[in-house]
Amino acid sequence: MSGRENVDVLVIGGGPGGTPAALALARAGKRVMLVESGRGLGGTCLFEGCIPSKIFRETAARRREISRAGDFGLRMASREAPEVDWAAVQARRHKILSARAQGALMRAQAMPTLEVVFGHARLTGPREALVELSDTQRRVGFSHAILATGSVPNRLPLPGASLPGVLDSEQLIEIGFVPDSLALIGGGPIGIEMAQIFAMLGSRVTVLEAQERILTPVDAVLAGRLLERLAADGIAVHTNVGITAIEGTMDQHTVRFEKEGEANEITADVVAIVAGRHPNVAGLGLEATAVAYDRNGVRVDETLQTDESGIYATGDLVGHPMFAHWATAQGLAVARYLLGHQADYPEPRFNSAVIFSYPELGMAGLTDEAARSEGMDVDVAEYDYREDARAQIGAGASGLLRIVYRRNDLRVVGIHALVEGAADLMGEAALAIRTGVTLPQLASAIHPHPTLTESFGLAAGAALTSESV
Ligand SMILES: Cc1cc2nc3c(=O)[nH]c(=O)nc-3n(C[C@H](O)[C@H](O)[C@H](O)COP(=O)(O)OP(=O)(O)OC[C@H]3O[C@@H](n4cnc5c(N)ncnc54)[C@H](O)[C@@H]3O)c2cc1C
Repeated sequence: MSGRENVDVLVIGGGPGGTPAALALARAGKRVMLVESGRGLGGTCLFEGCIPSKIFRETAARRREISRAGDFGLRMASREAPEVDWAAVQARRHKILSARAQGALMRAQAMPTLEVVFGHARLTGPREALVELSDTQRRVGFSHAILATGSVPNRLPLPGASLPGVLDSEQLIEIGFVPDSLALIGGGPIGIEMAQIFAMLGSRVTVLEAQERILTPVDAVLAGRLLERLAADGIAVHTNVGITAIEGTMDQHTVRFEKEGEANEITADVVAIVAGRHPNVAGLGLEATAVAYDRNGVRVDETLQTDESGIYATGDLVGHPMFAHWATAQGLAVARYLLGHQADYPEPRFNSAVIFSYPELGMAGLTDEAARSEGMDVDVAEYDYREDARAQIGAGASGLLRIVYRRNDLRVVGIHALVEGAADLMGEAALAIRTGVTLPQLASAIHPHPTLTESFGLAAGAALTSESV
């Protein structure tokens, strides 16, 4: 090991919570070291999360749409859905991932004051870390550090949870075949996305959820509509279940569970535990500092500073919400703060997110339930996508839009949409909520025809002319 090197900012973790912050700091001339212990820059989002799951969804949704070509006046030689070449799907995933990781590395390497180090970083004191590389170690002193080591999948303390063939979400991404049957333990965003992906690829899918309903924090009406869709597509969903054991061999498993006091079981070739994630503090050396944490995440103040002054934390490491764009917004806020600028810290009530279900479920701001629990007097303007021109033309002529607004000043505080294409509606939704747009403003904005975004104006306009407003 050579002597101690010094940097202005040490960033630990090259995912969405770390890399954009490191780039922003280096762009402003700070000496930054960005340490990443994984396969490249991109984090869980690139290698095991957002991007690979959406690559799979793209294939699965296209397969589904092709099998409905007849609805669009396209005669097919056979009514059968196309055969899945899973090796080609996985090869496509690898190609996109490595191109994106390479692009991120090239952007970072173009910064003269940023050094990217592929190794494992461990704090050895409040202003010092040890970076372990494959063949050497480097001792690094820093003025500030940003911890962005993300999260890891929850393992359930269940008999059989470690059997071969019982996977977590990261192993499910790597799977080498489309299983005939798949049991997913967990009905949150990852569980529901994976359920529909594999069902559209031809698997028989069962979802087992411990809570009363799937997608708990999501708008309850839309989650209910999506549940109907899952049932119509043959996905079995059991809620309120307590899993008691997983048994079986590599390629045939039985999942035993209790529901309403009765013992039940289902069988599946592959079982995946997709029951949430927890912050990744293992091996980070927090014990050498005053940084405090628990199972929910590292404790931070309103500037995202930990209990150790000068050490900040961002992204999944801080706990929920766990989204890539949220992690990036936090990282950039910390970077701006360290550069002495006004930092705009992300606030949960302005967040937006998409569950890439089929159809997509987009959400921005508060649900009516959350708004009421905060003491707001709110109403909901609804719009049924069955009436929508764009939805009728495309494949998504079902679903619902729900706009949550305050009754006293008509300010929009939440927009939730279940429709194929909802993902790309959420930009306008997030902007409307962030800037305090009212129903009359949303109604008078001129939305192009025929597009899904018209639904915002139509829903707002209808609510304004109804007796209740
Ligand atoms: C299946 C799945 C689908 C998802 N889909 C979406 C989606 O569609 N949209 C969305 O917004 N979010 C999605 N997410 C969540 C998203 O991936 C995370 O919220 C996001 O990656 C968090 O970013 P982060 O930078 O905090 O952590 P991470 O992306 O986990 O990055 C942390 C990095 O730190 C590195 N690291 C850890 N410890 C050390 C150490 N000691 N030294 C050096 N490096 C270290 C890790 O190797 C990793 O690269 C999904 C997640 C999963 C699992």
